[in-house]
Amino acid sequence: MPELPEVETVRRGLAPAMEGAVIAQADVNRPDLRWPFPSNMTERLTGQQVLRLRRRSKYILADLSSGETLLIHLGMSGRMLVSGDPLGQFAHEHPQKEKHDHVVLHLENGARITFNDPRRFGAMDLLNTESADQHKLLSVLGPEPLGNDFHEAHLIAAFKTKNSPIKSALLDQRIVAGLGNIYVCEALFRGGISPTRKALKVSKPRVAALVPIIRDVLSGAIEAGGSSLKDFRQADGELGYFQHSFDVYGREGQPCRTPNCGATISRIVQSGRSSFYCTTCQT
Ligand SMILES: [Zn+2]
Repeated sequence: MPELPEVETVRRGLAPAMEGAVIAQADVNRPDLRWPFPSNMTERLTGQQVLRLRRRSKYILADLSSGETLLIHLGMSGRMLVSGDPLGQFAHEHPQKEKHDHVVLHLENGARITFNDPRRFGAMDLLNTESADQHKLLSVLGPEPLGNDFHEAHLIAAFKTKNSPIKSALLDQRIVAGLGNIYVCEALFRGGISPTRKALKVSKPRVAALVPIIRDVLSGAIEAGGSSLKDFRQADGELGYFQHSFDVYGREGQPCRTPNCGATISRIVQSGRSSFYCTTCQT
């Protein structure tokens, strides 16, 4: 499942082809993904210029000249492909049409944006740009982890009444938007905090230290994604999925990477999701 850094990588990959471009044709090949598509989606997209491509949490938002914003969510298995970009940044031929190509945007500049999603947990919606923040998916979101509203005082205040494990608290999108399972595991490892510790029991200095750690973990992954963008142009035009090495995530039974620790990484299940951590380094 794509997390924030992967979504940001997709956004950065799409931006050169999409920003400023006009949508000449929109193929909407089924009535829905996770939810029904908005009414008259084809008509509402056709002829619109994409003014700006931005991201909020794990949503990509394309502001259109009509005053509407196209919201794109990749869900579990959604993929975006860019092909035929005339700027020469994406030197691909248009790929053969595939079974799960649900929405295809043909841009006037010659680029083609394909949304492919076999499991259909993804979503697209059209919302009024000015009131986009009030959309049901966006209004519930806390601050962006890489934005100015995510700071030490915010996290300390948010944890003060949280009787749940810190792992769940960090996954709570109202506390911080867009953090997912992988990067919470990584941040807690770097912070030396056990995922089972109750949020309100973690000392203020340790909570405060998590803010720059979370930023670093995400920024590092976005950088890795950025370097993957250089490679994908030679490949099939698919954006956002890159090899990334994690310290704890997916490393059950393997040695802890803290020098001289000697323990192995454990896996437990919390709220139905795997937590990977070192029981020696994380307390
Ligand atoms: Zn360790």
